[in-house]
This record gives sequence, C-alpha cells and structure tokens, in this order.
Amino acid sequence: MENKDFQHFQQIIEKAGKVYEKNFDRKCWFERAVFLSWYCSRADCKFCEMSALAPEIKIKNPKLARRRSESILAEILFARMCDWRMEFLSGGYDCYSITGDEKRLLNLIEQCSKIYGKKIWLNIGNAGKEFLASAAEFVEGVCGSVETVNQKIREYACPSKPIAEIEDLLKKAEQLGLKRAMTIIIGLGENIDDIEKLFALIRKHSITRITFYSLIPHKGTAYENAKIPKKEYYAKWIAKTRIEFPKLEIIAGIWVDRIEQIGILLNAGANAITKLPAIKVFGTKTGRNIEGEISRADRKFEGTLTMLNPEIVKNAELIVNNSGFEQELKQKIMKKFNAYLKQAKRKYSYD
Ligand code: SF4
Repeated sequence: MENKDFQHFQQIIEKAGKVYEKNFDRKCWFERAVFLSWYCSRADCKFCEMSALAPEIKIKNPKLARRRSESILAEILFARMCDWRMEFLSGGYDCYSITGDEKRLLNLIEQCSKIYGKKIWLNIGNAGKEFLASAAEFVEGVCGSVETVNQKIREYACPSKPIAEIEDLLKKAEQLGLKRAMTIIIGLGENIDDIEKLFALIRKHSITRITFYSLIPHKGTAYENAKIPKKEYYAKWIAKTRIEFPKLEIIAGIWVDRIEQIGILLNAGANAITKLPAIKVFGTKTGRNIEGEISRADRKFEGTLTMLNPEIVKNAELIVNNSGFEQELKQKIMKKFNAYLKQAKRKYSYD
C-alpha cells in the first residue's frame, strides 16, 4: 500500500474506532454458527464446499445429510458453557422442507432455543412465511446469506441464489416482527465501490446485524486459487459500514490462518468474531493467541477459548435436566456433550 493510501486507510480506521467507542462498551465475544445439515438443494455457489462435490457424491438423501439432534444440542450446550453466543442455526437450502419435515425442524428449533436459554437466529435459506410464523416464538431473527451485492459477481458466484429471493425472506421476517441480519463475503471479485449497494440493502431491510467473511478458497471450488483478500481491504468494508451505521452489530469472520487480523478488524469497529473452529482450537496455542489478539485490541473478551469452568458438567446437567426433553434425548445430549468436553480437556485441564 502506498504511503498516501495507507494514511487514508488509517484515517478511516480511526474514524470507525471513534464511532465504535461512542456506541459500544468494548466487549467482544465469539459467535458460534451451528450447522444443521450437509444437504443443499442449490449446491452450486462457487465458493462453497458443496459445489466441489462430484455429482455422484452430492447427497441424494437429505435425511442422511442431517446432523443428529443430540449432536446439535450438545454443541449449543458446550457453546453456552463457554459463554459463546449463537450466531444462527444454519443449513443448506431446503434441508428439511425438501422431505416435508418442517415439523421436525420446528421441534429442533424449539429444542435449540431451550438449550441456549434464549431465542435464536435462523439462516436456513428461503423459509416460508407460515413456517417462520410457527417458529417465531423461539426465533430472534432471520439471516439472509447475501454473499455479494455486486449483481454481476452474484450471477457467477451464486447462480441459484437470486437476491430477490433473499429480500423476500427479509420482508417476510419484517412482517412477522422478526429481526433481520445478513452475511457478506469479501473477496469474491467485488470492489469497495459496491459498498453503497450494501448500505442501501441494510437501510431497506432495517438490518440490525451483519456478518462479514473474508473468502476462504476451498479446495475443488472455482475459487480454489483465488487470492485471500488483504486485511486492509477486508477491514475497510467493516470500517466504512461502522461509520455509516454506528449502532449496527458487526461480526467479523476470522479463519485460523488469519488470526493476526483480529486486532485490525476490531479496531475497524467489529463487535464480535465468528467462523473459527472454536471447539477444535479450544485450549490450544491458537485459542490463547485469539484471546491475546482481542486483549491487545483493548477489548474485553466475554467467554473463553482457553479455560473450562470446574462446574461445567454440573451446570450443563442442570440445563439439560430442566429442558423438559425425554430421558433418552437428555442422556444422548450429555453423552455427546461429554465427548466435546473430552476433546477440549485433552488440550486443557482444569484439575
Ligand atoms: S446456498 Fe449455501 S449451502 Fe447451498 S451452495 Fe450456496 S452457500 Fe452452499
């Protein structure tokens, strides 16, 4: 970056930092997205691992692609025990509706909300209004995976995910009184001038939270050899968004190979981080480094990626016992929870 560009960049980050400072309390947290299924009826977004699957491997039976309820619920329980927030329940398009299993999904959403202890966000594609109305009691809001606001790039990168469909989802959510969020991937080929289109969408749908990701070039996808966006470019998207929307909740996706970017993204005005494989990195050097980066950015990290509470099993059991679930499901959740715990304890011991 040339000296002049660098100075300009620094000015934007400084301004965004001041806006953040005025509106927030320096708390930072980890948002955990919880995955429901490996099935997606679209399966052709060019950055997504789904698109890399050969046609003969693409999962034909959506039921087989679903995660077991106990695994999902135990993951949420583990996240809650670590004081992580639940970003959303996420699944490929039609992962339940394609087999007419909306009732099962509704039941699962209710269970997830009970284990989390709060309403949850949904990011499950173009859910119908009737479905959303039935789930509303347990749902905080709905997230639309916008991915890119550049129409040309969208036609290439997400050929089966038109923006009109996502906007329709956001409108339905608004009519039902649900909050609205969106996700955006930086590095698909857009440029910073596209940001005005993002601002227009945020305004149009009264978005209250946004998750930015920077491209992960997954093997086998059309973006396999794409360049990872420079941290300054990624931070600029966040900083400009922070300046334009002082109270918006901004979450920055970070991958394990980019941990050193955490500081700049927080300084650019992000509230929280996401995307990291948090259970895998729990208690490791990476987990410690993440916490270090957050603290060096003068933020207070809520929750932990390194320390287990000695009361963790007792607390988890209490939540599961009070859930009202059937005994068999309670036992299965605790079994899976203990497996997550074992995985974490292998790297860290509180004894
Ligand atoms: S809709 Fe989502 S899960 Fe399906 S291919 Fe696109 S990014 Fe992947």
